[in-house]
Amino acid sequence: MQNDPSPSWKPETLAVAAGRPDRLPDAPLNQPMVPASTYIAGQETELIGYGRYGNPGWTALEEAVAALEGGATALAFASGMAAAAAVLAAIPASGTIVLPQHCYLGVAGLAEEYRRRHGLSVRTVDISDTAAVLEAAVGADLVWIESPANPTMDVADLAAVSAGLPDGCLLLVDNTFATPLLQQPLQQGADVVLHSATKFLSGHSDALCGMLVFTRSVDDLAGRARNARKLHGATPGVLESYLVLRGIRTLPVRVRQAEANAKVLVELLSGNPLVDRIRYPGFGSMLAIELPDAATADGLIDKLRLWVNATSLGGVESTLERRRRWPTELPSVPEGLIRMSVGVEHIDDLATDLTRALDSLRH
Ligand SMILES: *Cc1c(COP(=O)(O)O)cnc(C)c1O
Repeated sequence: MQNDPSPSWKPETLAVAAGRPDRLPDAPLNQPMVPASTYIAGQETELIGYGRYGNPGWTALEEAVAALEGGATALAFASGMAAAAAVLAAIPASGTIVLPQHCYLGVAGLAEEYRRRHGLSVRTVDISDTAAVLEAAVGADLVWIESPANPTMDVADLAAVSAGLPDGCLLLVDNTFATPLLQQPLQQGADVVLHSATKFLSGHSDALCGMLVFTRSVDDLAGRARNARKLHGATPGVLESYLVLRGIRTLPVRVRQAEANAKVLVELLSGNPLVDRIRYPGFGSMLAIELPDAATADGLIDKLRLWVNATSLGGVESTLERRRRWPTELPSVPEGLIRMSVGVEHIDDLATDLTRALDSLRH
């Protein structure tokens, strides 16, 4: 049993107050970790029953994320990919989905697997072109949007897409890059929100976790996704659920600080002669810069001392990577494109590290 957050609370408050145990004398303030595979039987209606069906730590995390996204229910998974797989398992296997032409590579790979094995039809579109999305959505079961998208930072008009979708076509938004602090897709008409909670929600690069958040109108889809978690066993770890909820407590302050840092860096980099293009959606702390070629981009990354060369994103640490170092990255992503996840370090140190490295490349 958890405390119910007040519907009038702001996101900053929900991040702190949602997903707490009842306030009883001497009870812990935080939901404790409950490492349990086995629960004692005997309740008339079994509450949890078995460790693969539920855990008090998942419930606390799910309540917090549902509150932040303004959803009716949420489900926690072992990873963002496990959450994505539960959605594909919950829609008709030989149905049709619309996918972004640029999106998280794992999601594209998973959809391709469903195409080969189950005959799922996959249509890819430029998600920043609303008319193209709506055209592709005719006869589709699900439109999958990632906005801002990885790694090109394409942005979709979520309200326009959701308003124009045909009846019966679901809208899923991968909200990993924006976080519920900067974008709440369910309030713009989406049916499901997906998070790689591994990234901003957790925020400390130490846990893998995924989330789905549903509106009331798709209770049946939520039920099928819950069943998929139970049957496929892609359950979140007890420690991971704890770490993600702990991370959420500081999500608003991390997001604001990282966003403020990102805005300064966009300004700074836009004046640099080595930077051909900056892709920044205008909010958040994810951006991509384009350098003339792979060698220059690798040279920059090599010369940085504070910024960490790493895939993944959304941690307190500033990280970056040249996306085409992955052989599976699409050829439409330029060789010199570096995706940057701005952290919460002091802006002067982040800026100095970048300027120094860029300057050294020009000599
Ligand atoms: C990382 C990521 C995923 C996959 O999440 P995992 O937690 O790594 O399984 C999905 N979508 C986006 C946008 C991501 O960045």
